[in-house]
Amino acid sequence: MLTCFLSLFKVLRSSFLSSRERMDYEDRYRLLSQRPKYDCLLFDLDDTLYPLSSGLARECGNNIKDYIVEKLGIVKDKVVELSNLLYKNYGTTMAGLRAVGYDFDYDDYHSYVHGRLPYDNLKPDPQLRSLLLTLPLRKIIFTNADKVHAAKALSKLGLEDCFEGIICFETLNPSRKDMDSGDENDVEFLRSASATTDVHSSPEIFDIIGHFAQPKPSATLPKTPIDCKPQESAIERALKIANINPQRTLFFDDSVRNIQAGKRVGLHTVLVGTSQRPKGADYALESIHNIKQALPELWETDVKSDANYTGQVAIETSVIA
Ligand SMILES: [Mg+2]
Repeated sequence: MLTCFLSLFKVLRSSFLSSRERMDYEDRYRLLSQRPKYDCLLFDLDDTLYPLSSGLARECGNNIKDYIVEKLGIVKDKVVELSNLLYKNYGTTMAGLRAVGYDFDYDDYHSYVHGRLPYDNLKPDPQLRSLLLTLPLRKIIFTNADKVHAAKALSKLGLEDCFEGIICFETLNPSRKDMDSGDENDVEFLRSASATTDVHSSPEIFDIIGHFAQPKPSATLPKTPIDCKPQESAIERALKIANINPQRTLFFDDSVRNIQAGKRVGLHTVLVGTSQRPKGADYALESIHNIKQALPELWETDVKSDANYTGQVAIETSVIA
């Protein structure tokens, strides 16, 4: 579309231009035509930058179920069904728990669920590190997990200095404490954040198992106060906070629903973890290591703009909360 418009415009304009003006115009046209298609790569973290076979996802699921039983007092035999329903309907179990009325401290939840993960299963990945560092584009992490987990996982993978910043749970759901701290390290992407997690516990817990067991046409699911993928509004906020143009960004994630939501907000999409490309995915990669075979054009650019990141900023100064 843009190419057609530029061609037509070029023909029309060239009839009225002096030769000097025509040369200037053609130079600009040529530069625009050579402009790389993407200037930003947006990466999910868990099961995208390391494989599912690490076992972290399975352990995380077990920890969530233990948290629900131990901290929220839910009977054991309902936990699997409840957590599956919440995850399916709200993007994360945590977002679902808040939606149906459970109130709890977010930091406590994250430290319980992630604190005991087998991080030693994650090994340094010099091959991925080299691929990332040679990419002349902005690279940003976008995860539903908290900043402590993101920093720890990236450090174990040896990728802590490969990204410009991290959009994490706290970025989209800043607590009053985060908003008031004025922490200079958090300022970069926090400045635009507007939502807070000042929430109040509901007087009653919504029975989501009963809701799906006997659906009533008039019944609707309660909304969650937590912003996370795959909500389109959450993805759009993340893009705005990090000043990302979706039309010029490739979004990598292992979740089909996150990829499909990303597509709906205008991102170009890459499903990671399978070579089967579902609807909504522009590409599918069995492993993130296949990125160069599938998308060699990402490296084929002479345009060194200010998007060219040198990897000098340590993760501790670029984690966004
Ligand atoms: Mg993931």
